[in-house]
Amino acid sequence: MRIDVLGVGFDDLTMAEAVAAGARLLTEEGCHYVVTPNPEIVEVCRENPAAMRAVNGADLVLPDGIGIIKGTAMLGTPLKEKTPGIEFAAGLMGEMAKEGKSLYLLGAKPGVAEQAAERLAAQYPGLKIAGTHDGYFKDDAPVAEAIRQSGADCVFVCLGAPKQELWMAKWGPETGAHLLCGLGGSLDVFAGVVERAPKFWSDHGLEWFYRLCREPKRIGRMMKLPLFLVHVRKEKRKK
Ligand code: UDP
Repeated sequence: MRIDVLGVGFDDLTMAEAVAAGARLLTEEGCHYVVTPNPEIVEVCRENPAAMRAVNGADLVLPDGIGIIKGTAMLGTPLKEKTPGIEFAAGLMGEMAKEGKSLYLLGAKPGVAEQAAERLAAQYPGLKIAGTHDGYFKDDAPVAEAIRQSGADCVFVCLGAPKQELWMAKWGPETGAHLLCGLGGSLDVFAGVVERAPKFWSDHGLEWFYRLCREPKRIGRMMKLPLFLVHVRKEKRKK
């Protein structure tokens, strides 16, 4: 059973359980996808019914950050722990490397996915990189077809939210992959273009603040965080 936060249902899993579930989906018939919403995405979903459907339609819905964990605690239905998309992806690549599975990297500015591919291939011996494509394309069908031709088992879809969630829901089955994961800005981090917040900041639930200091233009998007807390408080009162 999923734990509801303002209409988005989250899976209550530890990181190890989430990675095991992802690895299992990779071996199952059909096409599956994983989403990793943060409070900002929950707010987007509240305003955009198609995004809400795409997020709730995922096979795994993982809480990306501390905001969701705090929200579920406030609502009296706490989740076990945060399972950030980028750490989930790292765990999954470890499992894929053991099995010799192949990964396609889709998203980010031209050149970034290639750079990420080089670094990940070195970091995870055994992992096959099936191909890469930047995230600034007009026609979806040729991209889905390129992924199908590559024979990838898994695709990291890093187009930002809610674009990546909508893309996976609509185009996932056309790619022939067993698993797609929506991972926001992860390719920038894997490529070394953007640095992740040091452990101290994420351990203290302040990764969002670190990112805000590094990229002040995120302030508009981050205003959704207090809005999320207001909505959670309202929901709690209703309960
Ligand atoms: N992006 C993309 N295509 C687009 C819009 C964005 O590939 O049309 C990429 C962008 O270059 C970045 C990622 O999507 O690499 C989104 O990063 P953001 O920091 O917004 O994601 P977050 O991790 O905050 O969800």
